[in-house]
Amino acid sequence: MGYCQSNCRDFDFLCKRMKDFFKALLSKAQSKRKENKTFLQRLAKQPPRNLDKMFAGETQEFFNKHSCLDCANCCKTTSPIFRDVDIDRIASHLKIKPGEMVARYLHMDEDRHYVLNSSPCVFLGEDNFCSIYHVRPQACRDYPHTERKNIYQVMDLAYHNTLVCPAVAGIVEKLKKVE
Ligand code: SF4
Ligand code: SF4
Repeated sequence: MGYCQSNCRDFDFLCKRMKDFFKALLSKAQSKRKENKTFLQRLAKQPPRNLDKMFAGETQEFFNKHSCLDCANCCKTTSPIFRDVDIDRIASHLKIKPGEMVARYLHMDEDRHYVLNSSPCVFLGEDNFCSIYHVRPQACRDYPHTERKNIYQVMDLAYHNTLVCPAVAGIVEKLKKVE
């Protein structure tokens, strides 16, 4: 598999390893941007009492059926935030100093968070496996953030992630049908 070499945030670029099903979900989310934004904004303003449960249930259903190894779009197109504890843990795993880890791979963004210098993530393998999976940043563990408490507070993020993550795109499609 070849990584995207440039412009990998462009919707038109989708890695060859991504399954057609995942591509179709992202394509649908692109064409329904306005509808999804309106729907998620409404959920943020008037969240049903069981919204957390609805998102968590759909998330589990999606990932019971589908594997991130057929996708890795998040790792290819966006950077997680690396907290100091993440940097310390990963540096220790790589047997380098935290400062060296920062110098090699990271920079501080405008919000003063450490993020990757480039995409795809330097730790992503050609087989879509993460080479630091057991010590990966907390942000990678939490992604795509659809099983958190008080999810109504992050509907902007959910909207953004419909354009990156086929799982979120699929979950939102399902929720529109039941809501
Ligand atoms: S979390 Fe979403 S974007 Fe990331 S690999 Fe899994 S399905 Fe793809
Ligand atoms: S650290 Fe691993 S899980 Fe996180 S973005 Fe990189 S390859 Fe993906």
